[in-house]
Parts: sequence; C-alpha cells; structure tokens
Amino acid sequence: MNIFSYHQASDATSAIALKHAGPAAKYLGGGTNLVDLMRETVEQPETLVDITHLACDIEQRADGSLLIGAAAKNTAVAAHPAVRSNYPLLSRSILAGASAQIRNVATVGGNILQRTRCRYFYDNAARCNKRQPQAGCDALEGFNRYHAILGSSDACVATHPSDMCVALVALDAVVHLQGTAGTRSIPLRDLHRLPGDRPDLETDLQPDELITAIEIPALPFANRSTYRKVRDRASYAFALISVAAALDVNEMGKVRDVRLALGGVAHKPWRALKAEAVLKGQTADTAAFRAAAEAELADAVGLRDNAFKIELAKRTIVAVLDELKGDNA
Ligand SMILES: Cc1cc2nc3c(=O)[nH]c(=O)nc-3n(C[C@H](O)[C@H](O)[C@H](O)COP(=O)(O)OP(=O)(O)OC[C@H]3O[C@@H](n4cnc5c(N)ncnc54)[C@H](O)[C@@H]3O)c2cc1C
Repeated sequence: MNIFSYHQASDATSAIALKHAGPAAKYLGGGTNLVDLMRETVEQPETLVDITHLACDIEQRADGSLLIGAAAKNTAVAAHPAVRSNYPLLSRSILAGASAQIRNVATVGGNILQRTRCRYFYDNAARCNKRQPQAGCDALEGFNRYHAILGSSDACVATHPSDMCVALVALDAVVHLQGTAGTRSIPLRDLHRLPGDRPDLETDLQPDELITAIEIPALPFANRSTYRKVRDRASYAFALISVAAALDVNEMGKVRDVRLALGGVAHKPWRALKAEAVLKGQTADTAAFRAAAEAELADAVGLRDNAFKIELAKRTIVAVLDELKGDNA
C-alpha cells in the first residue's frame, strides 16, 4: 500500500472541499472495497476523505417515500422496519451480500460505487481496459464465468457486483449528489454506465461529486417483492444471476404493474424494462413470465464460461415471478 494522507469530514461541504484540495483524493466510506483495492495497488489515492460521519439517517416521509443518508450502514438499511415491511426486496438484497461483519461497516454510498470483482481487474499482471485504458482485456478469453451477458463490449465484460443496487434500480431510486457545482439528483438507473470503449468510466459522476442520499419513491405493491440470488456458494459469494422483483396482479389475474431488475448480468445494475413491457396487462402465469424473460434476454451474448447464465437468468425471472404471483393470490 502506498503512503496517503487521511482527513475526516464533518459535513458534505467540507468533504467536497477536502477532496477538491487533496491530490489524487478519494472519499472513504467503510473502506471494505477501497482499502482492498489500495492493498492490491489497483487504486493509489494520495488523500482519503473519511465521510463516515456524514448523514446516515433513514427517514420515512409522509408520502411513503424513504430518504436514506449515504453514510447509513448496509446493516441499518436492511434492518429498518420500513424497509423490511414496505420494500422486502431491498432488505433481502442487502442481506444476500457479503457478510454480517462487512455489512456492519459498509455504507450505502460505498455499496453503490463499489468496483467490479473481475479477477483481471484486481490482478495487476493481467490486461484490463478498466484499470489501464487501451491495455486489452484478459477476461474475454480467460475465466469468465461471472462476467456480463448483456450490454458488454469488446473492451470490457465485467459486471457490477452490488446486490443492493439491483433492488434500488427496480424501485426507481434517485441518487442525491453534491459537488463543487452544486446539487443535483438523478435516477440510480442512469448513474452507472455500460462499458463501450471506456470501461474506465464507470459512472456519470462529476469530479468531487459526493453521493449524499438515496431516495426511494413510495411503491405500495413493493410490499409484495423479493430478491433471489443464484451463486456458487450459499453465502459469501457474488451473484451469477440475481433478480429483484415486485409484482402487482389485479382481481382478474392480470399484471397491473411489475418491477424487475437483474444483477450479475451487466456492467451496471440492469433494469428489465423489456420484460416489464411484455408483462403489463397480461395474465400472470408462467407462460407470460417466460415470454417476458425471453424478451429481456433476446440480446444476451454468452462467453466461453458463462453462456449458461442466459438460460439461468430466464429461469430465475420465471421462478421469482411465480413466487410473487402466489403472494398476490
Ligand atoms: C469478501 C467480500 C465479499 C463481498 N460480497 C458482496 C456481495 O455478495 N454482494 C455485494 O453487493 N457486495 C459484496 N461485497 C462488497 C461490499 O458490499 C462493498 O465492499 C461495500 O458495500 C462498499 O461499501 P464501503 O462503504 O465499504 O465502500 P468504500 O470501500 O469505502 O468505497 C467504495 C467506493 O465508493 C466511493 N464512495 C464511498 N462513499 C461515497 C459517497 N458517499 N459518495 C461518493 N463516493 C463514495 C469510494 O471513494 C470508493 O471509490 C463484498 C466485499 C467483500 C470484501
């Protein structure tokens, strides 16, 4: 690990000023991802701005929405009564990730901006366009079981590893940002980028921009929602495929509304808008769920080790929607 200076910020404005002033500075949340990357010298910040003392409140508002401070710990979000009862998919997605110890220190902001677990990104001896632009990509011909099947490019097939983000994208969460140019809010769905020919650019954040909070709009039928993660080990493993879903079925047995997002499939948490469009108004049955899954995965491309994920994603979508249909009965 290289030498760096450490500063603790007391509020968002001072954090942004400290990061702006510090050479090669990075924000430090729980450090469960950044510090690992510093140990591997994949990231080499010269200044760390500790933002763990910033807003961490979880506020349930009168309109039913939730406002979660970016410094809130993953454990606190998963355990919050309003999250557990109104957005079970969010609670379950967080609990499906990492370990209790990691979730106790990991923050919401850090979870959103955690970097890919592609082994070639972590390995300084390997070629990686994300770590070193124009270097090439050893994952394309290497061990690519965990890699992307949607939205990838010849430059990068890495996936975004967060479980929590899959649920947040399904819930249309909004990210509140503050930077030297002021404040703004954007849908989380638009924060992360697909790799194209610049996989080193992972988000549309401006330099120094800080995630200050996440807002989750009210979604009454999200109380009938879930998160399913398919992985190689029962715990402490990243997703091969994950599905976050909420389903609203009317008294005629038709899909009134649905939210669907996938994890483990792309460079960003993947909102399954094509599947949602296919499902709305249809009879909620296995045939419709399968048709929706086919539509979403129509453009999927498998690599040597991960082509099985295309069928796995379809089956997981169907299984989750079948389960939620039962909850609607
Ligand atoms: C062994 C292991 C297993 C894991 N398994 C899983 C898993 O199964 N599923 C899963 O989803 N995750 C998993 N994780 C990842 C874990 O969820 C992340 O490491 C954690 O959420 C990152 O949060 P943090 O606060 O520690 O981020 P940090 O490491 O502090 O920061 C991560 C990045 O976010 C930036 N950042 C942090 N906060 C902000 C902010 N407010 N504004 C702007 N930038 C910010 C930092 O500068 C840094 O670039 C695992 C991690 C480990 C070590």
